[in-house]
Amino acid sequence: MKNAFLYTDAYLDYDYGPTHPLRIIRLKLTYGLIKSYGFLDLPSVQFIPTIKAEEKDLAAFHSEEYLNILKQANEGYPMGDAYFYGLGPGDNPIFPGLFNLSLLLTGATLQAVDFVADGKGEIAFNIAGGLHHAMRARASGFCYINDPVIGIMRLLNRGKRVAYIDIDAHHGDGVQKAFYETNQVLTISLHESGHTLFPGTGFEYEIGEGKGEGYSVNLPFPPHTEDEVYVWVFDEVVPELVHAFKPDVVVTQLGVDTFYDDPLTNLHLSILGFERILKKIKNLAPRWVALGGGGYNISNVARAWTLAWAVMNGIELNEKLPESFLKEAVKFGMEEKELREQLGTSPHSQNKENRMEMERVVHYIKETVLPRVKG
Ligand SMILES: [Zn+2]
Repeated sequence: MKNAFLYTDAYLDYDYGPTHPLRIIRLKLTYGLIKSYGFLDLPSVQFIPTIKAEEKDLAAFHSEEYLNILKQANEGYPMGDAYFYGLGPGDNPIFPGLFNLSLLLTGATLQAVDFVADGKGEIAFNIAGGLHHAMRARASGFCYINDPVIGIMRLLNRGKRVAYIDIDAHHGDGVQKAFYETNQVLTISLHESGHTLFPGTGFEYEIGEGKGEGYSVNLPFPPHTEDEVYVWVFDEVVPELVHAFKPDVVVTQLGVDTFYDDPLTNLHLSILGFERILKKIKNLAPRWVALGGGGYNISNVARAWTLAWAVMNGIELNEKLPESFLKEAVKFGMEEKELREQLGTSPHSQNKENRMEMERVVHYIKETVLPRVKG
């Protein structure tokens, strides 16, 4: 069985703009680091160059009028009514080729989905995917097209039962909303609380509606939550939910903006905590479509997703980053020379208070959500 890695240098043709925190170069750096380690040349690995999705694939979730607006915005010029669709200066800028970029990264997600659903392999990783905030007719939080939703919809059409686990620092609101009223998809989002971070949703009492009641799970963490509390919550809730739901495929959004030195968020995880969670997900997932996500410290992104790929493939990594990679990476301001770094205790450690708050949330999920999924 092979594992697939999807990528294309064509991503580098696009740019959100000089002041935007989402830098496309992070994809190239991640690909470069994985390649320098030799992890794309293993017999167990299949490298798949990304192919664009078709417009009709996007229409499976997004409205026709919104897709028409995105196609116009693809020219890169300001448009009068773009504001009504979430586009414009700020989070979701209009830049040349934004629709083409969306077709590319959604194409990679669909290729990953088909690879796994066809039984060609057990795991596929699209580092460019995971744009979990996009809504049916609105861009949001750097996301124009919701590739996780489109990928999950294709899995459903192929008769698969899907659990979605989202470990980005931001709530996976677009994905939750798309499947809020169905019991065919279990969505679980671990994120910084909406009290302190965009998009301001994802509270534990958002549990789904109608048939979907109990199939949306939210674990909102207070700012400064560290590895210990985060991993404890995961262990208390996620394995039992996933085992009860019995998915055919697990889709994950692996945002790495949860780290203590991410410039946009306030969680305090380390790369070691991330690695522990990845190993747990691997044990839970019969088949696994892994998507990227947030992450605004590009050195963290490259190192963490390389580590993720190593976990997926069961490889132990040399701690020293390859010399050939470092020479390139330094041009983009990446100074770290080692893969993992130890995190000292934060001077503002609020572990005790955070643990108490999360004990309350875990108790709520166990009382309210778990019995519904267990049936
Ligand atoms: Zn995020």
